[in-house]
Amino acid sequence: MRPIHYTIHASDPHAHLFEVRLRIAQPQRDGQRLRLPVWIPGSYMIREFARHVEGVTAAVAGRAVSIGKESKNTWRCGRLPEAAGEPLEVSYRVYAWDLSVRAAHLDARHGFFNGTSVFLAVAGREAETCSVDILPPEGDGYSRWRVATTLPAAKGRGGAQPLGFGRYEARDYDELIDHPVQMGEFELAAFTAGGCRHELAVTGRADVDLERLARDLKPICREQIALFEPKRRRAPVDRYLFTTMAVGDGYGGLEHRASTALLCSRGSLPYPDMKGVPEAYQTFLGLASHEYFHTWNVKRIKPARFDTYDLQQEMYTSLLWIFEGFTSYYDDLMLCRAGTITTEAYLRGLQRTVRSVQAGPGRRLQSVAESSFDAWIKYYRQDENSPNSVVSYYVKGALVALCLDLTIRARTRSRRSLDDVMRLLWQRYGKPPQRTAAVQAVAGSGVRRDGGASGAHGLGEDEFPGLLEEATGVDLSRQIARWAYGTGELPLAECLKPFGVTVGREAGGDAISWLGARTVVQHSEVVIQHAQRDGPAARAGLSAGDRLMAVDGLRCDETALKAVLARRKPGSEIRIHAFRRDELIEATVILAAPPPLITLAADGRNARRSAWLGGRAMA
Ligand SMILES: [Zn+2]
Repeated sequence: MRPIHYTIHASDPHAHLFEVRLRIAQPQRDGQRLRLPVWIPGSYMIREFARHVEGVTAAVAGRAVSIGKESKNTWRCGRLPEAAGEPLEVSYRVYAWDLSVRAAHLDARHGFFNGTSVFLAVAGREAETCSVDILPPEGDGYSRWRVATTLPAAKGRGGAQPLGFGRYEARDYDELIDHPVQMGEFELAAFTAGGCRHELAVTGRADVDLERLARDLKPICREQIALFEPKRRRAPVDRYLFTTMAVGDGYGGLEHRASTALLCSRGSLPYPDMKGVPEAYQTFLGLASHEYFHTWNVKRIKPARFDTYDLQQEMYTSLLWIFEGFTSYYDDLMLCRAGTITTEAYLRGLQRTVRSVQAGPGRRLQSVAESSFDAWIKYYRQDENSPNSVVSYYVKGALVALCLDLTIRARTRSRRSLDDVMRLLWQRYGKPPQRTAAVQAVAGSGVRRDGGASGAHGLGEDEFPGLLEEATGVDLSRQIARWAYGTGELPLAECLKPFGVTVGREAGGDAISWLGARTVVQHSEVVIQHAQRDGPAARAGLSAGDRLMAVDGLRCDETALKAVLARRKPGSEIRIHAFRRDELIEATVILAAPPPLITLAADGRNARRSAWLGGRAMA
């Protein structure tokens, strides 16, 4: 047992409670502080994990000592008795009922936690090695539960067996919170790529063909390893874990240094004897590929601003369009280059990405650099106005990456590409975590980073254009200024043309007219979810939340509204009655023509396109 030792017990699955005990040898006598992060790296939002902590008590040698709160996420013990030598013991419970990849969840079927939700940091001692005992719920019903985590098992006696409950270790608090833990009954598969054992664990009711999943993920991982390490072909870790929670409906992933936690709908996983790659499965593979790419891009190559994480407050960078956007560009691209999907399927996915950016008027208001900076209050906290005011640094960031990649390829006759930029980033900033490196404890933040041998700490806010030129010999600083720091349209047609991909337009669906509003059906009522600023509905005075009662004097339901939009010509007027809260309002909407949808079409053979996409030829 280490001087800082945690015990986490899945003690009450029905009440969704983890019981945590923390034993601190040689505590600070005059007021030991403990604190919980307010956010989790990779998900840029203040989540206030401390709101689920309850029943905090402290004791020395079985005698209670006072402990109280100093701030929303900080506790402070009273002065400890003089009888030195005895450790301080702190106990608390964590309510875990968040079935996402960002927090903690426990019921009788499954347990999951991120350390950021459950482990209080011992202030001032975050750099110390700590140990943790992970204990299952009591009772026969849990005898088949196992543990999936990349947290290293403690060495020696008492160390957890592979997949077992028992003792684990982390060399510092930073590591402790960067290996999520999955527990329950699960299926397992494994494969080796780049000298690394990759494991897959799937929990939840799903009839999964795990062998197929392993077979499909292996070439994707190999492709990424080869991209960053073309000579050595070594993964940055010896062991990597994809843990997946299969649920009815859900989607999400979070990257960690040696694993990823994924959440998906069970319908998106491969089932026995499944043929081909259905779109839902392609989406799942894209998600797994995305999180795996983060093993390099953001976990080891970081914005300089993230050099040392401060988990007590927001950290600002304008570069998430590189760390998330480029990762989004490469996720599907790696599927295509690995031969998992066809060029045709890749271009269909790219077309969806383009349409998704085009559908949001927020792209004209916010750049991806601004979206990165404001992720905390805008991208992660979306509301009815978000489509009007926010652009996704993921989706548009991926298109910026596409335009950069294609421009570099076109200007260098395919001799250089964005891959060279990623490799330079990796060589310069991506030193793998070193166990022996002297790591700096950071006063105040309490969280440290993995040591890097180069002395360089991460990508500076203004450094990217120069680095791109260094890697490729191409100066794209003006383009980067426009595409990532401006709000003009991206020159997709121009960029794709040399690669034999034509950008076109088509009418979407049956509607000949457009309301400029997205509607949903709630309690049998058609409700405006989002009204596009300056769209026909908004100009007529309709807003998000308005419940549409009648169109031209007739009761409005989904079918009736569709029929009107399929028959009435752009420019014609319709009269809408709606309830705003409890007030009836009337609006005359002048219908507009629906915005056309963008299409991507590839023609014949194209050597540049083959060099870019590799993979299987078009079907
Ligand atoms: Zn990501």
